[in-house]
Amino acid sequence: MELISPAHVSDEEKLRILRRLDQFRHWHSLDDRRYCLVCGKIITGHQIRLLGGTRGNGPLRVICPTERCHSIPMDWVLPTAEVLADITMKKAAHADAHAIRQDRDAQKNQRVRPCAN
Ligand SMILES: [Zn+2]
Repeated sequence: MELISPAHVSDEEKLRILRRLDQFRHWHSLDDRRYCLVCGKIITGHQIRLLGGTRGNGPLRVICPTERCHSIPMDWVLPTAEVLADITMKKAAHADAHAIRQDRDAQKNQRVRPCAN
């Protein structure tokens, strides 16, 4: 993928592009932060990558700066206290799910044993 050289896009221009392409949330400045739902990272306007915008590269678009994460503005939410709490909860829930799975496996093994007689 061809990246637009940052030298060609001033901060003002980048902010203008972000505001145009991110129709979901308003960007006050490139210092604004977003939480990427796809890779689970906090990203700033400065970090966001610009793609395309030239012939052959398709329409201009903005993507997550994280390697191999190609999420789009729709996937970027404001990192409010609730969102950050939710992230922490999801991490905890993930750990719980793992524990429950282990419990279920243990129960399955217990159930199997009497039938074997
Ligand atoms: Zn991402």
